[in-house]
Amino acid sequence: MTGPPIPSTMFAWRKYKGNQEPVYEEIPVPPTPATGFLVKILAAGGKVYIDSPHIIPALSPFPPELDFVIPGHEGCGEIVRVGSEVQDSKHKLGDIVAIYAVPGCGSKDCPECGRDLPHLCRIGEHHGIGQDGSFADYIAIDARAAVALPKGVSPAEGAVATDAGTTAYSAIVKRGKITKDQTVVLFGLGGLGFNALQVILWIGARVIISDTRESTLEEAAKLGVPRKDIVPVGKSVQEFIKENGLEDKIDTVADFVGKTQTFSDAQNIVRYGGTLLYVGTLSNYTTVDAKICIKKRLTVVFNYGGQYEDVVEVLDLIAKKVVRPQVETGSFKDFPKIVQDLHEGKVKSRMALLPSHT
Ligand SMILES: [Zn+2]
Repeated sequence: MTGPPIPSTMFAWRKYKGNQEPVYEEIPVPPTPATGFLVKILAAGGKVYIDSPHIIPALSPFPPELDFVIPGHEGCGEIVRVGSEVQDSKHKLGDIVAIYAVPGCGSKDCPECGRDLPHLCRIGEHHGIGQDGSFADYIAIDARAAVALPKGVSPAEGAVATDAGTTAYSAIVKRGKITKDQTVVLFGLGGLGFNALQVILWIGARVIISDTRESTLEEAAKLGVPRKDIVPVGKSVQEFIKENGLEDKIDTVADFVGKTQTFSDAQNIVRYGGTLLYVGTLSNYTTVDAKICIKKRLTVVFNYGGQYEDVVEVLDLIAKKVVRPQVETGSFKDFPKIVQDLHEGKVKSRMALLPSHT
């Protein structure tokens, strides 16, 4: 099998160094990597501002060696070419795969990949984060980046599962080790936080939620969060905890906001011996109150992304409808307008863009 005909050129969004506006242009289709696949994109999502301060500072500067890059670190598509050196692959021509954006270099000698932490690899692949991503008709990926899309999962869901789903899952299950008998406070119900909420409900822990948007809290109530466990908008979380007799009961605070205020609240409301799980990065710097943290003997855990297995596991939860990622879809061509809408707060969940050929 050779696959469908591939055009010589494709359309892609590119960000040029020093230019905030993305440019939609016709460029060559990338060659099929010998150890990977050429994938026809069916849905793409992710950070749209590669040089935005909203992403992790270490990754956010425009790569110095590049003049332009295709953004989009969440992708899903069809394998249309298989590299000449791909052997015994789990995937074949025509398969639909979610794209794990951070498969790393894959070397067992790599200080990170050797410990199964490819997402922390400093030399390997990071699609859409300093290397070409999914806002294009085609993407070239290594075989290690392909994750089979389970039946019943849409390409848009598959795309956002690779980060918004995986990061939330990894944070709650692997890093936070949240268990059924715990009481958790969750700050922030954006794209990641809402997925995290569903994972916590699946685990069976009690979860108290706080967000600044009434409509989002209503959606959480529909998922089964009792009204008594929803901090009213505008209410001080510390007061809510006191008034509801929850002092000394909060095992873990999962902070998907990451502001100075939420981190301060977290240190104050968590019980002695508890855990602060830190995922959001709205403030680059927050303050550790050493007296509180030492006296309470707290554990502070950070999370960034997730491992390949986390993508597989969260896709399984999506297939089982345990996690229903909030995702809105739009057209590739509307990318600049969608960026504008994101800035103006008109997009309430995660966006996945569908290329014109779909
Ligand atoms: Zn590596």
